[in-house]
Amino acid sequence: MFDHTHGLSGHRILTGDRPTGPLHIGHLAGTLAGRVQLQVRNRQTILIADLQALTDNAGNPAKVSSNVLELALDYLAAGIDPAQTTIALQSGIPELAELSTLYMNLVPVSRLLRNPTIKSEIEARGFGDSLPAGFLCYPVSQAADITAFCADLVPAGADQAPLVELSNEIAMRINRMAGEEVLPRAELLQSHAPRLPGIDGRRKMSKSAGNAIMLSDEPDDIRRKVFAMYTDHGHLRVSDPGKVEGNVVFAMLDAFDLEPEAVADLKERYRAGGLGDMVLKRRAEAVLQDLLAPIRARRKMLASEAGEIRKILEAGTAAARETVQPQHSRVRRAFGLA
Ligand code: ATP
Ligand code: MG
Repeated sequence: MFDHTHGLSGHRILTGDRPTGPLHIGHLAGTLAGRVQLQVRNRQTILIADLQALTDNAGNPAKVSSNVLELALDYLAAGIDPAQTTIALQSGIPELAELSTLYMNLVPVSRLLRNPTIKSEIEARGFGDSLPAGFLCYPVSQAADITAFCADLVPAGADQAPLVELSNEIAMRINRMAGEEVLPRAELLQSHAPRLPGIDGRRKMSKSAGNAIMLSDEPDDIRRKVFAMYTDHGHLRVSDPGKVEGNVVFAMLDAFDLEPEAVADLKERYRAGGLGDMVLKRRAEAVLQDLLAPIRARRKMLASEAGEIRKILEAGTAAARETVQPQHSRVRRAFGLA
């Protein structure tokens, strides 16, 4: 995969995922591959955001709890090294919940309702009148996560841009309250594929949209999903000119094919007409099979080590709790609490 981290070093990094299902190749392209690079020269924490996952899964908490270990397994299989990255469970750090409660006092509801990411997620989930207050406020809790770790870098997908912006607004507000720089600004680090589309081509690849290729998918699933990918409905005959923009197969090749010149050449031929979807899909399938085979093999090897992985999580959560203490105290003081 391409490296967009350019040897960045010395940063405090916070990223995370909701334990709502297995990780997919959108995670890999948008953030996970970057985290594997960044863990070497930076102080990186990955938060398994179980409290955040409950904000739209309170009716099915088992979905969240049963995915915690699976998520950790995905990290290790993809190359996250617990000796270099702290993997922590959000619900094991109650300081985060307290910061979140304090920050809620600084954010108008109207500001949350206007947030483009939240807006589209509320629509996609069809909450109607039943929008949980917790879901509306999860960006505030995410600001608590980012600031508690004093993160100055957040490697994440494009959907996170409005959330990092809100976190920075909250941080600046607290700095003004405290009369000194208590919390740093955080910068979003986006990859070359910050918003990988789902195989349906209608929205971003998401665990909850049923449009994802999982890191743990078997070769047959990968093949089936690649051949179901949306290309260009106007491209009926091989000789017809085809559209590259919005074509999911090209999005996959752009994200994962290690020969960009060859992909540029394919785009040219596709646009001109004379190149069939099957040729593209066969190439995309080969690229994805090569990408996922070693991850799947490592995942299978590690799957029998649940006890070890639990220990990694416990140790990571305890270490993360230590890390957030000083920030937590400073923010409490800014609010006049002892
Ligand atoms: P859910 O459907 O439960 O929200 P998700 O697939 O959106 O799951 P998250 O746990 O919300 O995954 O996101 C974790 C991280 O992965 C975030 O940094 C997010 O920006 C990134 N990410 C998720 N999907 C994509 C994607 N399709 N392309 C690039 N980055 C992505
Ligand atoms: Mg999401």
